[in-house]
Amino acid sequence: MIKIDIKDLKSQLQDSKKIIVIPHKNPDGDAIGSSIAINELLKSLGHKSLIISPNNFPDFLKWMDDDYEIKIYEEDEEVFSNEILNSDIIFTLDFNSLSRIGKMGEYVKKSKALKVMIDHHQSPENYAKYTYSDVNMSSTCEMVYHLISELSLGDKINSKIASALYTGIMTDTGSFKFPLTTDLTHKVVSDLIKKGANGSEINNLVYDNNSCDKLLLLSHTLSNMVVDMEHKTAYMYLTQHSLNKYNFKKGDTEGFVNYGLSIKGVKFAAIFIENEAEKIIKISLRSKGDFNVNEFSRNNFNGGGHINAAGGYSSENLEATLLKFKNLLPNYKNKLNQ
Ligand code: 5GP
Ligand code: MN
Repeated sequence: MIKIDIKDLKSQLQDSKKIIVIPHKNPDGDAIGSSIAINELLKSLGHKSLIISPNNFPDFLKWMDDDYEIKIYEEDEEVFSNEILNSDIIFTLDFNSLSRIGKMGEYVKKSKALKVMIDHHQSPENYAKYTYSDVNMSSTCEMVYHLISELSLGDKINSKIASALYTGIMTDTGSFKFPLTTDLTHKVVSDLIKKGANGSEINNLVYDNNSCDKLLLLSHTLSNMVVDMEHKTAYMYLTQHSLNKYNFKKGDTEGFVNYGLSIKGVKFAAIFIENEAEKIIKISLRSKGDFNVNEFSRNNFNGGGHINAAGGYSSENLEATLLKFKNLLPNYKNKLNQ
């Protein structure tokens, strides 16, 4: 764990600053939740703060951004690059490598702003003056809560901040079931509920907000799933053609990979999604127990993440990528059968 010098950070926040808050590309509930919470907190302290997301975020998270404060970098690269270059402080949330924000990374690197990283993934890069990194944390949102407490700013947590943090913790813990959901996580959640987060309502907003097309896409994906019990592995794939057929929208495939892992005896699940525009196959990997998908992704698919949840990509076509994956499994047979 690497911790921020709180006194030092507090002194940086004494007078009004121009601050940029950045979640990772294809932001999830944790990235958006932590960004909104930090942005609200900074504004309440009198700073000029702006969230710039590398690209758009899923519809099921839009309710959190009720004031339309999240700007999308892709929509005006020149203007937002200048905002980054001319800022005093940059918060980077829920990622630890500048490659996770695409082109924006170059400007963050170039900017003279003081950088703050808050993140719970493995192997943080060294680009920030203040790095708060803890791989044992359930979520970046839980870390933001602890940071706010350490800054003695707990009284600034209003219902908007509480709801945003609750959402990130809920989504990153798979609704409070993944192994990093600790008693401390529940204490944090308890306080967030006291401060105005409505767990039941947030659950409805995030999970019961599906389109029919999304469910049809899920049905299609499951019908093509391959289950390889010799390697305790289940994997699925989606072609660009299928995505188009079911009117794919950002976020629609989130959680699909977990269905593979829900099969009795399966320890390793993967989904391969064709992205014609970016000419890549985006890969999501999940595991149970000791099988380390962060390592698997780093070694084979240009990615990373956590022990039990990681992602990566392949620049080969879908067929070649699936074949590569299938051929890799025998190398991991012992680990998968431990
Ligand atoms: P997901 O499969 O939900 O996209 O991501 C699972 C986890 O892996 C997340 O914690 C995410 O930050 C990480 N991850 C996803 N894609 C990549 C990638 O391309 N590179 C790295 N380093 N991490 C990734
Ligand atoms: Mn996260």
